[in-house]
Amino acid sequence: VSAVTWEDLAEFAKGSKGVVLPVGSLEQHGPHLPLGTDTLIVETVAQRVAEETGWLVAPSVSYGYKPQPGSSGGNGFPGTCSLDGYTLILLVRDVVREFLRHRIKRIMILDGHYENSLFLNEAVDLAIRESGRGDAKVVVARWFDLVSPGFFKELFSDGFEGMAVEHASKVETSLVLAIDEDLVKKNRMRDDAPLRRENYVVLPEQAEFIPQSGVLTHVFPSSKELGQKLLQKIVEECVKILKKEFS
Ligand code: ZN
Ligand code: MN
Repeated sequence: VSAVTWEDLAEFAKGSKGVVLPVGSLEQHGPHLPLGTDTLIVETVAQRVAEETGWLVAPSVSYGYKPQPGSSGGNGFPGTCSLDGYTLILLVRDVVREFLRHRIKRIMILDGHYENSLFLNEAVDLAIRESGRGDAKVVVARWFDLVSPGFFKELFSDGFEGMAVEHASKVETSLVLAIDEDLVKKNRMRDDAPLRRENYVVLPEQAEFIPQSGVLTHVFPSSKELGQKLLQKIVEECVKILKKEFS
């Protein structure tokens, strides 16, 4: 979207295509991955989806909701900069409402950060209601929900314990390797886990729920090839969704 002119955007809005809005986070991803990992992943997927479909990619929302100890290692690490829930809701509501105002009525939000989920649904709900555009359709997709647990298990074998604990671990490491190998500090990769996990939440954050390195489970096996396969799969699933929901 940033690269087109207003006239071109107005023309684009008359057509049958829409806009992908990547939403990520800025947060620790262990000693070996960049803070912008979640954003990098959704931007890359969005770009490839756009190339295949002719949709446009909107500038990313590069901040997300506060990482939770059990799914992302909490908020203590330097560089983890997050939004309060209502800030995220209002930020995304405004962006979506602006696109709707300019008659872009097909939008896919591509979410890459585990904790953003319902705030994004809320943002879209408010935007659609406030804009009064009943003809709009917005899809909110979290890339890690587009891939079946079976696919993950096949790629990563027994070490895969579900996306809830995959933070900065083999799935994200493989994806970043596939996107830009140089961004991964390979000599700093190591498995880690918190001392404690519970099926309830304790606030304020307790140290024993936080893994020392910020990595929540196994970093191995990860590789560029695994990342490429996964990336390909995610892009395919996104393209399928666009076809299913918007044609
Ligand atoms: Zn992440
Ligand atoms: Mn995240």
